Amino acid sequence: MTPFQDLNIRGRIYLNEQGINAQYSGPSKDALAYVEWLKEDERFSDILVQMSPAIGRHAFPKLKLQNKPSLVQYEGGISHLPLLDPPMRAKPLEPSEWKNKLKDLTDADGEASPSDSGRTCILLDVRNGYEWDVGHFRGARRPEVDCFRNTSFGLSDEKEAPSDPLINVDKEKTDILMYCTGGIRCDVYSTILRQRGFKNLYTLKGGVSHYLEEEGTSDWVGNLFVFDSRLSLPPAAYSNNTVDEAIITPQTPVDTSFARCYICDSQVHELRHRNCANLDCNLLFLCCAECVVNLKGCCCSDCVTAPRLRPVLHGIKRYEKWHVYRDS
Ligand SMILES: [Zn+2]
Ligand SMILES: [Zn+2]
Repeated sequence: MTPFQDLNIRGRIYLNEQGINAQYSGPSKDALAYVEWLKEDERFSDILVQMSPAIGRHAFPKLKLQNKPSLVQYEGGISHLPLLDPPMRAKPLEPSEWKNKLKDLTDADGEASPSDSGRTCILLDVRNGYEWDVGHFRGARRPEVDCFRNTSFGLSDEKEAPSDPLINVDKEKTDILMYCTGGIRCDVYSTILRQRGFKNLYTLKGGVSHYLEEEGTSDWVGNLFVFDSRLSLPPAAYSNNTVDEAIITPQTPVDTSFARCYICDSQVHELRHRNCANLDCNLLFLCCAECVVNLKGCCCSDCVTAPRLRPVLHGIKRYEKWHVYRDS
C-alpha cells in the first residue's frame, strides 16, 4: 500500500533491497506526507530528506515508481557492491566536520601536498563535468567524465589515466574526501575504492544540498546542478528556508563570475546548459549563445554532421522525443 493515490507527487523513485533513491516534486504538504509515511518503516526511519524550492509547478513530468536492479547507473551495475556493509563505505562526515576537514586541503587546486605529519588530503568531485561547470567546492578539480557510470578515480594506472588524482597515492596515509549532490553516488563509489584498498575515505553526509542547508555557501562557488527541469539552483535555495520563489526560475542562469562556455571557454553573460543536438551524443554541456549558433546546438564539429540531428533549441526549452523530429 502506497500513499500516492492521495498525493500530488511527481518524480522518480527507485528502490530495491539495497535502498531507495528518490527525487520528486509536489506541494510541501504532500511532499512531507510521503516522507512521514516512509519513515514509519523502521528501515527508513533515519533517512535524510532534503527540500528545495520549486518553480511554481512540478519539476518532473510524471511519477515513476520502479524496482531497479541498480539505484544509480554504474558500469557493470552496483548490485554486487557491499553497500549495506557500513565498514565498506566511507566515513560520513556531518557538514560541520566536512567544513573543518576542508582546511586540511593544502593546495587550492585540490592537489595533494603532504602536511607535517606526512598525510595528504585529496578532494574528489564524484559528479559529472557539466555539474562542476556551474558550481563546486573550492579546491575540487573538474571531473573528467560526463556520466557517473564511467567514474574511474583510482581504478587505472599512470599510463591509462595520467591525470587521475589517486594515481600513486599512499593508500594508508591519504585522506580522500568525496562529495556529490545528495550523497548516494559517493556511497556507491566509496565501496569501489574500499575494495581497491583505500583506507581513509570520507563522504559528505547528505551531499552538497545538505551542506548548503547547514553550513551556508562560504566554501562553495556558483550554483548547484540538479537533475530536474530546474537544472541548477542558487545555493541560497538551500541555505535560506524562506527563500523568495522568484529567484528560482526554469534553468536559473548560471553565475558567470567563474563559469565558462564548454566550447569556446569564454566567460560571457548568458551561459546555459543544453543537450547536444546530435541525438546519439546528447551530451549535456554549458554553452554561450554564440557557440549555439555556430555549432547548430552541437557540442563539437563532429556532431554537426551526425545523421540524427535535432533542430537548434533556443531559450530554455528541452528536446522532445526523437520521433517528433524524425516525423517532421
Ligand atoms: Zn562559446
Ligand atoms: Zn555532441
